[in-house]
Parts: sequence; structure tokens; C-alpha cells
Amino acid sequence: MTREFKRYNSLGEEEALAAAAVVRSGCLSKYVGEWGPDFYGGPEVQSFEQAWREYFAVEHAIAVNSWTSGLIAALGSIKLVPGDEVILPPWTMSACAAAILHWNAIPVFADIDPNTYCIDPASCEALVSDRTRAIMAVDIFGHPADMKALRLIAERHGVVLLSDTAQAPGAYIGDALCGTQGDIGGFSLNYHKHIHTGEGGMIVTNDDSLAERARMIRNHAEAVVAKRPNFSLENMIGYNFRLGEIEAAIGKLQLRKLASQVESRQLIAEQLTEGLSGLAGLCTPFVKPGNTHAYYVYALQVDPDVVGSKSALVERLTLAGVPGLSETYANLHLLPMFQERTAYGSSGFPWTAPFSKPVDYRKGICPVAEDLQDRVYIGFSICEYDLSTSDVEFIVDRFHSVWSEIL
Ligand SMILES: *Cc1c(COP(=O)(O)O)cnc(C)c1O
Repeated sequence: MTREFKRYNSLGEEEALAAAAVVRSGCLSKYVGEWGPDFYGGPEVQSFEQAWREYFAVEHAIAVNSWTSGLIAALGSIKLVPGDEVILPPWTMSACAAAILHWNAIPVFADIDPNTYCIDPASCEALVSDRTRAIMAVDIFGHPADMKALRLIAERHGVVLLSDTAQAPGAYIGDALCGTQGDIGGFSLNYHKHIHTGEGGMIVTNDDSLAERARMIRNHAEAVVAKRPNFSLENMIGYNFRLGEIEAAIGKLQLRKLASQVESRQLIAEQLTEGLSGLAGLCTPFVKPGNTHAYYVYALQVDPDVVGSKSALVERLTLAGVPGLSETYANLHLLPMFQERTAYGSSGFPWTAPFSKPVDYRKGICPVAEDLQDRVYIGFSICEYDLSTSDVEFIVDRFHSVWSEIL
């Protein structure tokens, strides 16, 4: 069976008009890469940052040209030094680990919670060493990481807590929007995320000094420090991580749509969960009490003893007309870069450098994440579509029909 599903599109006439207005203004980016009034960017960038600050009730929001850039700037701002270890989950985007390597620091992978897919605080704490500098929490698939437990661990060991909320803007932890509970964190604004500017990202922090360091890294710090007396040069190898004015103008409008957009996904997810909940050997997404889920991915788990191999199941469901299924996510520690330890040149740097301590990337270090990937997890990429009630009914019906064939 086939059915066309409408691709999700958050852009409307208002974004087109805002982009046109920026073009007509003649200024697509106002940044200057030296110290002065234009060091912090043009009017659209600055008002987008202000809107983000207000929305997320955070002291500083720093617009960047991608969240990958944001991760590099955030990690640089905490004065990560070569050989430092950063603990992160293997279920996240490769950019998280690459940004750590970028500073010649060492990614250390902790296992994930089998229900939320976020970093497991106990596994994380067991990996804290005298080299640990930071914990990177990722609110994966739209579910907040356990920031309360991670905050306690960070405090116990005197390490920094970073957050990656690329997939969970608009999710809540208690009464607070997720993404601002770390020392520094941020969001992605790429095409595939809840709201987007094509490419883009936003760093958030309540710490003045981290914020200023991130702004420096964003805009050619190495050339700017000379005119900023007393500014520490550490990690001030600056970049051009600047977001353009058109993207910022679009971003402001996108931000206004975030809450309703997340709400509509929550309704779709509820309808899906209701329709799928009776199927034997299938578990619908878990939402930890006190949290809300922003549903970037609608994650399912199967019991292979009941439904057989998940590959065969995904194939059947796809043939039956269910869109957007995938049977794997990520196990970053198993990527060739970590298995072969090839990053800078071929000498194994930074792992082989005298400042680094040995680290284990063998299969088996994250048994929960690996078992989910190998036997249990199926993702439905809910973010790709604008599903109507009847689309969801169709999908639910297709699941039931496949279940009646296999059981
Ligand atoms: C998308 C994403 C990123 C990278 O963001 P970009 O803006 O594409 O650079 C990082 N982490 C996670 C969890 C993501 O989903």
C-alpha cells in the first residue's frame, strides 16, 4: 500500500516577507571581525538573540551558523584543554563527539537509559576520572536528559555540565523549558529540526564569562583579543561561526511557532501511542513523569522473541506503507573514527598524545545502547511529516495489519 505523506514545513509567507525585507535593507550580515560596535552582529541577529533569551528565560543567547559550530564554541568557552575527557552518550549526533576532538580532548562514552535513550547518570558517574572536565547531556529524540541527577554528579566531581537540546526545543523539565539547566548548552536550527533557519544554532548560558568567550570564538577571537585587555587567550582560536541576517529574521518568526508546533507533534504522538498500545511485543515511547517530550523521533521498542527480527519487521511495515522507519540510530563509539582512532592525520592523535589517558571504545562498553541498536529499537521519524488524523489512522492500521500477519 502506498500513501503520500505531506512533508512538514514550518515556513510561511511571513518568513518570505522577512527575508525579502532583509535583502531590501542591503545588509545580509553586519558582523565585523574586529573589536567595535559591530562585533556582535547586525540588528536581526541581535534581536533574534534577545527573543531567544526571553523565550527560554536565560541570560545569554548566542546565535551561530550551526549547532556544530555552537558545540565547538561552547566547549572552547569552558577552557577545555588537550587530554581533557568529556563524557557523553553514544546515542547522539557525531558532531557532539567531533566537537570534543576538535579541542584535542577525548570523548568518553557512557551508556544510555533504556527508556529515555539519554545518558544514564550511573554509567556517567562511573566513568568520571581525574581527567574528566565535562559531561555532555543530550536531550535525544525530544526527551530531556536527567539534568537533576547529572547536576548532582557534576557538582560532586567539580565538572562542567553541557547540554545539547538540538532535538528537544520546547520540551519541559517540570515547569522549565529544557535546554537551560546546564552550565552552557544549545540548539540546532538546521532544516531537519523543529524550527529552522536552513542552517543555524543558538548557544545559551546564564554565565557571563562563558557567554563572552563563546562570542569571541564565534568571531575571530585571535584577532580581537589584542584590543580587549585582560581577556584570556585560552582557546581563543576564533572562527567565523556567524549567522546571517536573513536566517536571524526567519529565526525570530520560527521561534513564535515552536510551542504550537511541539504541541501538534505531541497530539500526533498521543494518537499513535493510543493506536499502537495493544500490539504484542511493541513498546511505545516512554515519557518520564514530570517531563514533556518534543517528539523529534517517535521511538519504538520491539521484543524480538515476540515479533522476530526487527529488520524483517521494518521491511514489512515499510512495504505495508508506513513511512519514515529506521532500525538504527547511532552508537558513536563504533564509528570508524573511534574504532581506528583516526582523526588528525594517521598517528592516532589525540588519543596517542602524551597528555591523553587510555580510553576504551570496544563493542561492549555500552551494552544497553548496543542491544537497543542490535535487537530492540525502531525509530519513526515523526519530525519529517505533517501528519493528519487520518494519516495516523492509516499508519496505525498498517501496524495492525502487519501484526496480524506475523503473530
Ligand atoms: C542536529 C544535531 C546536532 C548538530 O546541529 P547542526 O545545526 O546540524 O550542526 C547536534 N546534536 C544533535 C543531538 C543534533 O540532533
